[in-house]
Amino acid sequence: MRVTSQKALSVLSNAFMFRKPHHVQWLITRKCNYRCRGCSVWRDQQEDALSAADIKRGLDVLRQLGTIEIVLSGGNPLLRDDIDEILDYASRFFITTIYDNGSTAYKKVDILHKADFVAISLDSLNPEVHDYIKGVKGAWKQAMKSIETLSENGVNVAVSPTISQLNIHEIQKITEYFTERGIPVWYCLYSYDITDTEKSAFSIGRKKDEFEIQNKTDMAKLCDKLIQMRKQRKGILVTMRVLKALREYFSNGKRSWRCAALRNFFVINHKGEVSGCHLFNPVCSIFELPKKWNSSELEMLRRKYAQCTKCTYLCYIFYSLHGNITENLELTKDQIGNAKWLLLQNRFHGSKLGRKTSKPSAGNGASE
Ligand code: SF4
Ligand code: SF4
Repeated sequence: MRVTSQKALSVLSNAFMFRKPHHVQWLITRKCNYRCRGCSVWRDQQEDALSAADIKRGLDVLRQLGTIEIVLSGGNPLLRDDIDEILDYASRFFITTIYDNGSTAYKKVDILHKADFVAISLDSLNPEVHDYIKGVKGAWKQAMKSIETLSENGVNVAVSPTISQLNIHEIQKITEYFTERGIPVWYCLYSYDITDTEKSAFSIGRKKDEFEIQNKTDMAKLCDKLIQMRKQRKGILVTMRVLKALREYFSNGKRSWRCAALRNFFVINHKGEVSGCHLFNPVCSIFELPKKWNSSELEMLRRKYAQCTKCTYLCYIFYSLHGNITENLELTKDQIGNAKWLLLQNRFHGSKLGRKTSKPSAGNGASE
């Protein structure tokens, strides 16, 4: 984790800014080495992407707009040769999270020290289930190796399972397994793209019936369980507010949030195109955004998105629910609290993952 005075100042002053995008996800590459069944990226890989110099210019734009948090994803962002330069720059000014599918992080420990969080995607404690979802044999072993290596080396690693029908019964166990070992858990929720971006540079989520949660009550019960667990243990990185909103949604279909795409958050693709969320076509390039941010065109889109109920991507719900100044401060405090807890875990425990066991019992009975 990198906390410079420059960064602390930037985060704090931006937390008080009105009308600014708290959170930006930048998909800095559309290349990937995995074949996840619920993903469109690897089916339509693209070579072209902004250079590191242009990304740094784009990050300057985000500073100007008041962004606090940035997520670097893709594709697999760690496949970029210049990822060191990009991560180094981003982490100077933003709370920076970088994603990896688990295949590469263990080879890049030196670079990843700069990130505030490294999220490793891990969908099951059962190697067969995980490998099936990722479409790559051996993916589970690689992911566990990355989690263990980062943890051993004091990098703030978090585990990120995508909740779907294939693993919903395992989420509690995954959460217990990692938080007991000082490794926090952040969830994604399986969703798929249903808008006009099916063939665009933004398409990500592919419809797969086997992933769709069949019984909403099961999901509501899981939310209840996580709410209880969050009261008793650290390391569950989803806030109470989000868990309660999800529980309500899965109990009675009520969305207690309004989507804040292009208001609290937006996404940028590998070409530098900006969209409120990845399910809608781009509105402009990152370099044009300062001129457009307060335009009537974007204001109209914000109103449209506020009425939209098309998706349940968890990160979009999260940043729709955490938008105003008080919530930003609460969220920033929560993040700093989690980061401190992680520092303590790293200092006192090193890699508990490896020490306890390198082969967890599988949630659904199968084992490696
Ligand atoms: S979900 Fe991520 S890791 Fe899997 S293929 Fe898509 S971009 Fe790659
Ligand atoms: S609900 Fe929001 S994030 Fe989801 S598709 Fe609509 S505008 Fe995009």
